[in-house]
Amino acid sequence: MSGDHIRDEDGGTANAAGASASATSVADVPVRFVDKGAAVAAEGAGCHAGADALRDAAAAAGKSELLDRYATDYPKGPHDQPQSMCPAFGSLRVGLRMRRTATILSGSACCVYGLTFTSHFYGARRTVGYVPFDSETLVTGKLFEDIREAVHELADPERYDTIIITNLCVPTASGVPLDLLPEQINGVRVVGIDVPGFGVPTHAEAKDVLAGAMLAYARREAEQGPVAAPATRRTDVPTVTLLGELFPADPVVLGRLLEPMGLACGPTVPTREWRELYTALDGAAIAAIHPFYTASVREFEAAGRTVIGSAPVGVDGTAAWLDAIGDACGIAASAIGAAKDAALPAIGGVLAAAPIDASLIVSGYEGSELLVARLAIESGARVHYVGTACPRTPWSAPDLEWLETHGVRVKFRASLEDDLAALEEFRPDLAIGTTPLVQAAKARAIPALYFTNLISARPLMGVAGAGSVGQVINAALANRPRFEKMKAFFEGVGDGDTSGIWSDTPVPRPEFAKQFAKKLAKQAAARASTAST
Ligand code: SF4
Repeated sequence: MSGDHIRDEDGGTANAAGASASATSVADVPVRFVDKGAAVAAEGAGCHAGADALRDAAAAAGKSELLDRYATDYPKGPHDQPQSMCPAFGSLRVGLRMRRTATILSGSACCVYGLTFTSHFYGARRTVGYVPFDSETLVTGKLFEDIREAVHELADPERYDTIIITNLCVPTASGVPLDLLPEQINGVRVVGIDVPGFGVPTHAEAKDVLAGAMLAYARREAEQGPVAAPATRRTDVPTVTLLGELFPADPVVLGRLLEPMGLACGPTVPTREWRELYTALDGAAIAAIHPFYTASVREFEAAGRTVIGSAPVGVDGTAAWLDAIGDACGIAASAIGAAKDAALPAIGGVLAAAPIDASLIVSGYEGSELLVARLAIESGARVHYVGTACPRTPWSAPDLEWLETHGVRVKFRASLEDDLAALEEFRPDLAIGTTPLVQAAKARAIPALYFTNLISARPLMGVAGAGSVGQVINAALANRPRFEKMKAFFEGVGDGDTSGIWSDTPVPRPEFAKQFAKKLAKQAAARASTAST
């Protein structure tokens, strides 16, 4: 068997040495041929065009049940197209961080190029396998055969515990049936997921698609008999599982907060190795620090676990979180009180030592936006607006209630337009948000901080969090005079399309834009009618 079906992003191959499947084992899985119309419609579309067409094609190709589940787990907001990066980046990153795990993508080459480029930009030091396709392999069902061969080639138990294969938009819309892949090959687990941009709104929720699929698999294994303890297990006291990608220091801080209650920190989901999934499922309680892991919560609840929302941020947040965890784990009131006495005065002291005297707006797509706003308010900031790309869930309810009590407008599934409108309306002293919001703020000489790079890359919980957010916000606020100087210096050099130094000032031509829009609409109609014949 050739290794041509697995290509890495450089066009090289990523074959598992010495691992090859016999022709018999490869041929005994039935193939569901995809619908021709759906495949052709899907092949010509991407995330910037034809989401409805892709969704219809996927439904026609047998993925209705999956799309219905995604629609319930990840309800849509004002934007039904990703406004940031491709959502599949979230699940890709989760897989790439796991030890002894191989990752394969199936999708358009341009999508795979973008995803692998971003992965390596963020420091993934692993190869991403790629199964290419064309119209013919989609229509004839050969793509599924290619995927199956690729998985068999990689399934080397010496190297891997798990292979994750991800259908991107086009293979999902074409109904490529990953559920027909074997559950395991030579003891290597096979986890197939569909992560289409037209079904999973944000890359945050794509993390849940994979985490949920792995938890479901691990739960089935645990139900069938004893499973291996993780190599990293350090404690025999009851543990609290953390849900969400946290700053590395946060679990350490959380462990100290839990200690007086006789509890310890368990694994963080998404995990770094397969066996941690069993310990995660075995947690005394589950702390949904990030509130958007709907599929993962379903698995924890099926395993009989109680899931707690919010996080120990600031004095109020920490007190409420310790109460909730203590209740869920049946801890005596005196021990809960001891945990609070050990933590709250110190947190209050640090918050008072780094006060924030400013008005803010906060937005992002990480899922921790509400927590950051709470911390800022406890430091003295006046927060007008919090926008999050994530949906409202039962686990964001405590933070929503607290923020609304403090006069904050909270917008779930916020679009960039919502964030920009808040910037205009409130003209805050500081904006925390995504790249386009930060750019818009800086253009108005308003200091701004990137949520992902500057806020998410800091501790938030306990004493460590109380000090760190105030520090970064105050440093940014001190930059205001520099922004005002720059704005004054560049005053009069134009704006938007006409910005810059020109010998002739560019003239906007809206009539050209209209012409292009008409041509594109015509092209889309022609494509739709070809697909339906
Ligand atoms: S896989 Fe991602 S980049 Fe590709 S079309 Fe879908 S949403 Fe866009």
